[in-house]
Amino acid sequence: MTKPTNAPSSSASSQPGWRPDRMRVGLVLPWLLALAACTSVPLPPWPTSSGAAKAPPVAVAPAPVQAEPARPAVVVGAGTAPAAAPEAPYSAAVAARFPAPTVVYNTPGLQAGRSSFTSNAEIQSWLRDLVASAAPTSKLKAAVLPMGESQGGEALEALVLTHGTDTSAAALAASGRPTVLLIGQQHGNEPAGSEALLVVARELAQGLLQPLLERVNVIIVPRANPDGAAEHKRVTSGGLDMNRDHLLLNTPEARALAKLTRDYHPTVVVDAHEYTVVGRFLQKFGGVPKYDALLQYATTANLPEFLTKAAEEWYRRPLLAALKAQGLSTEWYYTTSTDLVDKKISMGGTQPDTGRNVNGLKNAVSLLIETRGVGIDRLHIQRRVHTHVTAISSVLASTAQRASELGQLQPYIEKELSASACKDEAVVQAGPTTIPYELLMLDPVTGADKMLRVEWNSSLTLRKIKARVRPCGYWLSASSKTAVERLRLHGVQVLRVMEPSALLGEVYRETARSAGVRQDVRGTIADAGHQIINAEVALMRGVIDAPAGSYYVPLHQPLANLVIAALEPDTQSSFFANQLLDGLPSTARVLTEPALKAEELP
Ligand SMILES: [Zn+2]
Repeated sequence: MTKPTNAPSSSASSQPGWRPDRMRVGLVLPWLLALAACTSVPLPPWPTSSGAAKAPPVAVAPAPVQAEPARPAVVVGAGTAPAAAPEAPYSAAVAARFPAPTVVYNTPGLQAGRSSFTSNAEIQSWLRDLVASAAPTSKLKAAVLPMGESQGGEALEALVLTHGTDTSAAALAASGRPTVLLIGQQHGNEPAGSEALLVVARELAQGLLQPLLERVNVIIVPRANPDGAAEHKRVTSGGLDMNRDHLLLNTPEARALAKLTRDYHPTVVVDAHEYTVVGRFLQKFGGVPKYDALLQYATTANLPEFLTKAAEEWYRRPLLAALKAQGLSTEWYYTTSTDLVDKKISMGGTQPDTGRNVNGLKNAVSLLIETRGVGIDRLHIQRRVHTHVTAISSVLASTAQRASELGQLQPYIEKELSASACKDEAVVQAGPTTIPYELLMLDPVTGADKMLRVEWNSSLTLRKIKARVRPCGYWLSASSKTAVERLRLHGVQVLRVMEPSALLGEVYRETARSAGVRQDVRGTIADAGHQIINAEVALMRGVIDAPAGSYYVPLHQPLANLVIAALEPDTQSSFFANQLLDGLPSTARVLTEPALKAEELP
């Protein structure tokens, strides 16, 4: 097969599994344009190529941050390289493939001679210093937003930067600018994203990225998992992988991000991670992963096609160009199971549980950026941070360039989604498609490129496993308080039934059940030993008696696809499987528009 390439000029057919979707988009566009003519929400003027011919010129070209000795406030300088090179887990020839960039970043954790990354207390000071430095007379409004507390009692905080009237959610919405949410270090042992976000925060507040705030609002959560960071471990202090908790919201860390997302409704979300560089890759494939950046957008069932198209054309392609211009290499995000016998390579998963996928279900352009960092401590740290700074700057610049189109895209998608209730199909479960793929790694001794032919689970073409008619909504029993609370934390509209009603729909009858634990492409998800219920169900048509005090979740709302992911019970990510609902009789699919006396929850 042709080697799939990341080159920005690559044709659609050279990307793994991409061709069918893109062809479909091409066919569907005239129909959408015709539809747009009779709706009040105008369709984004979609460019015919990635060249963005219709986009207004952008006055800022901030990526990447360059060393400018004349600007003392700039975080980069020269000649302050770390005192001693960290020990490499591979040969000098491999290490030589990753020279340090010409800029030097100097966050607290990157200071010469430091052995630890920026501490939680240092991040808090850093954010407060930036807020304090914003002159009262300047257009910049900056604030540290308290989001909650981690399991270990650490403050969860965001920095809000805007040229709006103030830093409230209402002011950002009224600013007419798209909001970008940048999230670092959900996994505590992946420090480069967090250090890079401190750099980006300072450049936005004081440095070369300042002009972008004319076009975009930015919210930065530099460290989403401070307990994990303090212990240099992947999971939260309770042992859960918070980046598989974004639908269920069992951890305070994921809840804090959900509330922030609900309140500020970002148009674009970036999740900054690092990936495993040696370990099981070396054991399984005899190679060392070589790419500076691995990229992926949301790839889960039911995502609007235009959201995926925007992620690909408006974001990923400019990202590839920006990274290449800095001599940084890229590939799709991939990982492999911790089972050493399983030689498959998988792109980031298709389950609606990661931040990447759940933020897509919230109708944001959702991007994952991973640098090569897990297992190599401080090795190549300047290059890893430079990769993140370059990538995030590119995302911010793309958002500034596409601000007006993005302002139309999200309302358009949300209107379409609301209108699809009671009709069309809802995919309940989807999986990746396995294709042959040629993946480059490095020879661990010589450092030369090493070509591997692998079985590759592509998440770009979803395989439909289970689909149902899209209901008008879901009924939930009065005892479903936990499920209702979690849905509302996501921003889902839930109604309380005020008078007993009869609803026409389907109830679930359990036909088989087994206990298990959630799985992803890496293996078993770190979930503090929580057991799930793997149920098989049959649907039974009938009349549902909805007593006063029970709930109705309409699908005439922008978060309809997230509701489906949470409430169709027979998937490992569902509220039922994870026991946020007390049983199958507590939920039903409503198939005709109910005549309900119901109230919105306060
Ligand atoms: Zn991670």
